[in-house]
Amino acid sequence: ETGGELSKELNGLPEASLLIMLHDLTDMRRVEQMRVDFVANASHELKTPLASLSGFIETIQGHAKDDPEAQARFLGIMSEQAARMQRLIEDLLSLSRIEMREHVPPSGEVDLAALTGDVTDGLGPLAASHGVEINVDVKEGVEPVRGEWDELHQVVQNLTENALKYGRSGKRIDITIAPALNQAGRKMTELAIRDYGPGIPREHIPRLTERFYRVDVAKSRERGGTGLGLAIVKHIVNRHSGTLTIDSHVGEGSTFTVRLPVRAQTRA
Ligand code: ADP
Repeated sequence: ETGGELSKELNGLPEASLLIMLHDLTDMRRVEQMRVDFVANASHELKTPLASLSGFIETIQGHAKDDPEAQARFLGIMSEQAARMQRLIEDLLSLSRIEMREHVPPSGEVDLAALTGDVTDGLGPLAASHGVEINVDVKEGVEPVRGEWDELHQVVQNLTENALKYGRSGKRIDITIAPALNQAGRKMTELAIRDYGPGIPREHIPRLTERFYRVDVAKSRERGGTGLGLAIVKHIVNRHSGTLTIDSHVGEGSTFTVRLPVRAQTRA
């Protein structure tokens, strides 16, 4: 085994092993820092709608006590803030559930075409309300992937919702499902979601899957985003031994591509 060879070699090289240990420590510090940042960000994200809720409750009990019209308006805003908190808590729970299972390989088998049909049916009314057409093209020879329906559903749902939220000015979304091979020659199924919206400036692309990272915070909030959608996608794809690639050009649109290993390897 190369791992054994490596550690044998390192035993004779104390400086090198020390170097690797230091490396591990910096890694541990980085992970710890990420955890601290995450808790701070999550608390902040929850505090904002909560502060707004408290403010409106106070106003309804005070100034607006005898103004039913203002009360109705404020209650409308309060209900939006409560919905936002709920979405955020649901996403936080999903993320922690997925993290707990991250090292357990998925067991089921999923037909991505059927799953995508399910997602687009569910999003149909929303797409129609924005005048967006969603086209799904399933190429020949697509095989089922190894994975869990609920998790992969969330992947396709989050990516299609994003294409609708941020790319809807393009009026159409193209989803393509096709057979593919990874670099090692392993059979994969590829799912690409393409929108023709404003696109994403290049410098943001590497950071999009970080928790709470958004290109435009105001727009994300206005469209009901939590900033966790792509972080959830990344974790699920990792658990499924797949890959996520993001290709985007300002003024042209974005393509999010997920590749997942097919259910079982057929011998060549
Ligand atoms: P959010 O809840 O804010 O949508 P995500 O993690 O799903 O969070 O996405 C992170 C950010 O990536 C979004 O806030 C948005 O700025 C950007 N983004 C995601 N998908 C697209 C897209 N299809 N077109 C343009 N920007 C996108």
